[in-house]
Amino acid sequence: MGWDFSTEPEFQKKLDWVENFCRTEIEPLDLVFPYAVRSRNPKIKALVKPLQDEVKAQGLWALFLDKELGGPGFGQLKLGLLNEILGRYGSAPQIFGAAAPDTGNMEMLAAYGTDEQKKRWLTPMLNQEIWSAYSMTEPQGGSDPRLFKTHAVRVGDEWVIHGEKWFTSAGKAADILFVMCTNGMFVVPRDAPGVEIMPEPRTHNHIKYNDVHVPLDHLLGPEDGARVLAQRRLGGGRIHHAMRTISQCKLALDMMCERALSRESHGKIISEHQMVQEKIADSYAAIQMLRLYVLETAWKIDNSSIRETRTDIAAVKYSMAKVLREVSFNALHIMGSLGTTNLTPIQAMYAGAPTMGIADGVDEVHKATVARNVLSGYEPHEGFWPTEYIPAKREKARSKFEPLFEKDPDLRKIADGYAEYIARRG
Ligand SMILES: Cc1cc2nc3c(=O)[nH]c(=O)nc-3n(C[C@H](O)[C@H](O)[C@H](O)COP(=O)(O)OP(=O)(O)OC[C@H]3O[C@@H](n4cnc5c(N)ncnc54)[C@H](O)[C@@H]3O)c2cc1C
Repeated sequence: MGWDFSTEPEFQKKLDWVENFCRTEIEPLDLVFPYAVRSRNPKIKALVKPLQDEVKAQGLWALFLDKELGGPGFGQLKLGLLNEILGRYGSAPQIFGAAAPDTGNMEMLAAYGTDEQKKRWLTPMLNQEIWSAYSMTEPQGGSDPRLFKTHAVRVGDEWVIHGEKWFTSAGKAADILFVMCTNGMFVVPRDAPGVEIMPEPRTHNHIKYNDVHVPLDHLLGPEDGARVLAQRRLGGGRIHHAMRTISQCKLALDMMCERALSRESHGKIISEHQMVQEKIADSYAAIQMLRLYVLETAWKIDNSSIRETRTDIAAVKYSMAKVLREVSFNALHIMGSLGTTNLTPIQAMYAGAPTMGIADGVDEVHKATVARNVLSGYEPHEGFWPTEYIPAKREKARSKFEPLFEKDPDLRKIADGYAEYIARRG
């Protein structure tokens, strides 16, 4: 009977180390030198590198990658427990070599790249010598990949890519762009002639690919394989977001509880008001449910595959968005006016919460997937009545007792009495 919610003591030691390292090293760096990891200033780089070296010495670098793909191979459950800590600290995923969008792109390269492609792109990405972005969404369609138009045409010993992408996160700061075309996934250097980055949006870039020429070996995986590669990338990415969201929710709970115990209103500490208690109690339960669901889904991936776990990954994706919206709202509300300012993390968390229901697939699409997959395990009932129609079930149940009634007419009378009582009661 394998049913256990405890963490191995050895791994707990690692988690404790990570917690302490994030609190004492990463948080101060984030507060004084925000976005330090991507800085090209040698003085700031000199602050980041020793931290990353410590992470490597602990065997915690690129922890999202399986062993056979070049990472420590923790698996998704352990990664979930680690991400529960990292998600609280802005640059922690980057200090641990495990930040989106690079993680998903590295996963695609590790799984589908040739040795030459891995040497050219994966190794420098793992070392954070180069950065990447993922160009899938298009201005005319995001949720439905059938609307994508960006296409590559083979001309001699080159591919020529034409199309337009939108919301490529950190595209303008990337060295390479993973471009999903209708006929394959391509790696495009950001400075290739024809790559045109539009001025808006500033962080999630609108990029025109105007007949961009790339060599044949810039096709990643098989021709026409883009959707398979994208699923691989997005499946992992979605659960990693969920793992980090748990820590954001916990941060919101910590903040609301501390504040509720610290303020007074109408003759009471505000934590003594029942409507405040309800928010705290609902938030706590929602986080616990989300956490168990995320960890169970991670465990299922470890014991099967991303593909076989896709219903739960999709359900976790919209559930975490909902819990984050509710819990961050509760925290902001309990914080009162202070909650509406940018003097604590809560305002940004609440403002960013709806994003979680859009990025990596909108809630509606994931819900449709879940409903479709759940329904595929059911059949319509025959005739007018559902399987749980009680009179029909009772009639069938009575037939089970018929042999006993034959032997014991009194028992039949008692059963008839019950039947009359039930009929009278309506
Ligand atoms: C912060 C952030 C970062 C992102 N980063 C990247 C990135 O790096 N690379 C990249 O390629 N993309 C990125 N995206 C884009 C993201 O993948 C898309 O936003 C997402 O797929 C939805 O596409 P859309 O925005 O075009 O919305 P649309 O497809 O236009 O959908 C808009 C709304 O229509 C409704 N809707 C759509 N389809 C259905 C349906 N089937 N059933 C019911 N209702 C539906 C929903 O209400 C939905 O919210 C990012 C998005 C965000 C917010």
